[in-house]
Amino acid sequence: MTNILPRGRAELIIAEHAAGKTVPQIAAEYGHSPQTVRSYALGHRAPGEFTAREDSFAPFAAYCRRRLEDDPHLRAMPLLAEITGLGFPGTGKTFYRALERHEISPHPCPDCHVARISGYALRPPEQMPRPFRLAVPLSPVGGETMASFLRRLADANRTTLDALLGILHPWFSIKNQWHDDRWQHDKLAPWAGEAAESLAAACGSTALALKKALPAFGENREQPARAVTACRLCSAAQRIQQPVPAHLPACRRVCLRHGIWLSAHGTPQFSVRDCPDILDAERRARRLLRRCTAEQLLYLSMQPPSQAGERSWKRRATTLIASNPRSASESSSQEMFLAAAYPDAITVAQASVKAPGEQSSLAGTSPTHR
Ligand SMILES: [Zn+2]
Ligand SMILES: [Zn+2]
Repeated sequence: MTNILPRGRAELIIAEHAAGKTVPQIAAEYGHSPQTVRSYALGHRAPGEFTAREDSFAPFAAYCRRRLEDDPHLRAMPLLAEITGLGFPGTGKTFYRALERHEISPHPCPDCHVARISGYALRPPEQMPRPFRLAVPLSPVGGETMASFLRRLADANRTTLDALLGILHPWFSIKNQWHDDRWQHDKLAPWAGEAAESLAAACGSTALALKKALPAFGENREQPARAVTACRLCSAAQRIQQPVPAHLPACRRVCLRHGIWLSAHGTPQFSVRDCPDILDAERRARRLLRRCTAEQLLYLSMQPPSQAGERSWKRRATTLIASNPRSASESSSQEMFLAAAYPDAITVAQASVKAPGEQSSLAGTSPTHR
């Protein structure tokens, strides 16, 4: 039986064979069947090539790459659920194999380390520290990470993070062990409500507002998200000078209030105010979300736009470069091209999500693959 190998491994086998090793030697050395090795060594199969049956994942590979770039904490199972909703017919097993073949790693965040929940016993309520109102109240920015908000709260009150954690519900000390604060451990989840009350008492907000603003509490956790820096002008309006790491809905690209393009985390933001069609595309995208899922919108907007869009794309790119400081266009050129192409991408998605009553090309939830 022949197997599909990751491209790098297949290329290595071809090189070994060309250098004079025999098929049985290579098979023994790399642990693949002689048939598999032979199919690559003799050129019956090219590296990166799949049969039709094995290729059922191919239409979703770009989507998976994009989602993992947007959200480096995305794990395999939720990603599988996303593409299953888009029409991927495979099982968990075929999905894992496909990821390996396409050299895609789920949860690629380089800053994560394994944190264990054992050893952190939640104290019973009577021993819980009584939260008290801190002198300087503070509100979170929408989507802000817990680590960022707690640090800002501690700084505003001229105290340390440890001292702050000492007066809060123990949920926070445990949660603080994880780089990905949206990870919902089933032992911790039941305490999220109490924890929110505790933080609300300390920072002078309400538990409801905190749960809505801070993804760490697990509200809307089914919704795909992307890791970004919160709009710098929204932050500045709250007198926050430093970048605020946040998780926003995956389809949100623009702060409509300030006309700021929400670049990927770590890439400078820039203004799209001088390109009304980019602002309009953001509004169209938000309206489309009433008729399709975020996953569908993302998937459809990744399909290639028509050639007619080329001229308007260039016009927008020129406007973006001219209307932003040179430093922004130098460090965010990739994002600027994305922004310039955004109206066309949304138009493609819009054409696929037909008006209610019409036969949608997203038959059921499965989009047509082009
Ligand atoms: Zn991480
Ligand atoms: Zn803003």
